[in-house]
Amino acid sequence: MTDNTALGFDTLQVHAGAEPDPATGARQIPIYQTTGYVFRDAEHAANLFNLAEVGYIYSRLTNPTVGALQTRIAMLEGGAGAVCCSSGHAAQLMALFPLMSPGMNVIASTRLYGGTIQQFSNTIKKFGWSAKFVDFDDTDAVAAAIDENTRAVFCESIANPGGYITDIDAISAITNAAGIPLIVDNTTATPYLCNPIEHGATLVVHSTTKYLTGNGTVTGGAVVDSGKFDWAASGKFPSLAAPEPAYHGINFYEALGAMAFTFHSIAIGLRDLGMTMNPQGAHYTLMGIETLSLRMQKHVENATVLAKWLENDPRIEAVTYAGLESSPYNHRVAKICPKGAGGLFTITVKGGYDACVKLVESLELFSHVANLGDTRSLIIHSASTTHRQLSDEQRAAAGAASNVVRLSIGIEDVKDLIADMDQALTKATA
Ligand SMILES: *Cc1c(COP(=O)(O)O)cnc(C)c1O
Repeated sequence: MTDNTALGFDTLQVHAGAEPDPATGARQIPIYQTTGYVFRDAEHAANLFNLAEVGYIYSRLTNPTVGALQTRIAMLEGGAGAVCCSSGHAAQLMALFPLMSPGMNVIASTRLYGGTIQQFSNTIKKFGWSAKFVDFDDTDAVAAAIDENTRAVFCESIANPGGYITDIDAISAITNAAGIPLIVDNTTATPYLCNPIEHGATLVVHSTTKYLTGNGTVTGGAVVDSGKFDWAASGKFPSLAAPEPAYHGINFYEALGAMAFTFHSIAIGLRDLGMTMNPQGAHYTLMGIETLSLRMQKHVENATVLAKWLENDPRIEAVTYAGLESSPYNHRVAKICPKGAGGLFTITVKGGYDACVKLVESLELFSHVANLGDTRSLIIHSASTTHRQLSDEQRAAAGAASNVVRLSIGIEDVKDLIADMDQALTKATA
């Protein structure tokens, strides 16, 4: 078993990055709960700091348990390398950090997780960065928005809160022509349902908090680099392809090629921003990923049955699941996420805001939680929670109007989910 690239997804989700522990033979990856690592001698230490030798210095930068997870996620996404961080939002900053500088902008889809719209609208301005939001179905508008200060284009594969699939091929054709990296947030699809790199993405970001961990135990994030982008061609990415003053003048792209972005993220991003994943958290996520494909199959199966049931229910005005034939994005499923449209969608409830609140409060199996991608079924009224700080216009564009609730369908028996939904809808619309 030498050619890992020939292994299938179900094999990789269990084996990638998981050699038996060299010290003890432990078959499961140990939780290396340590901050420091003893250097063999002064030369070994110097080589590590010079990136002349790969090894462990300090757990803000690298840790064997976190490293195993990085390898596993990189292989599942078909990337050259990955860096894990403390949350999905940390991963987004880590993805932008090597690309941006004051005055630079990112072109972002209007259909994004509410927290990301917030992070991009306001917080990144503190770094002198800005975001321009565009409807990614309007490819001419995406192309027109890219200007000389654009350093990244950002979208979600299947957008949270569900129902929208980005035509990643169409967007990557634009970013490739412009010589700008495309970042795809693949949180809600996971690499089992969608491979953004195959569709031309440069970087893939994840909130590992969601389906990758899968059981609602830890927050985490990851940035995967395809290793395919030419950082030197345009002269626009000096942190990666010119002498980097933050690391004694090393040119990461010259020195490390396809691993330039990943090494920069560890050597400078984690070193100076410190948004590190801890080994205990990495352990939970490694455990979760072992069953990713099995869970995603069940999430998709249950979501499809429930979405169809809801679509035919007179108490429901609309169901936005891209897996339904009635969805305007159904035609993209076969191309972008052929194994299914995920486990996340929204419903518009007749009776508006009040009926939504009553529905959320009347459900018994569904938990009212600001998370998604759990084994348990979850519900949230986005307008009063995750998307609360957005304007009405931003909420509508993001698919989170006040008469809409988001469902994250779990892996329970679907007949029980239907029964729960039925009794709660009766109360909500009485
Ligand atoms: C949750 C989520 C994030 C943010 O991740 P955290 O781990 O909560 O920081 C980013 N993108 C999407 C699509 C998400 O669902």
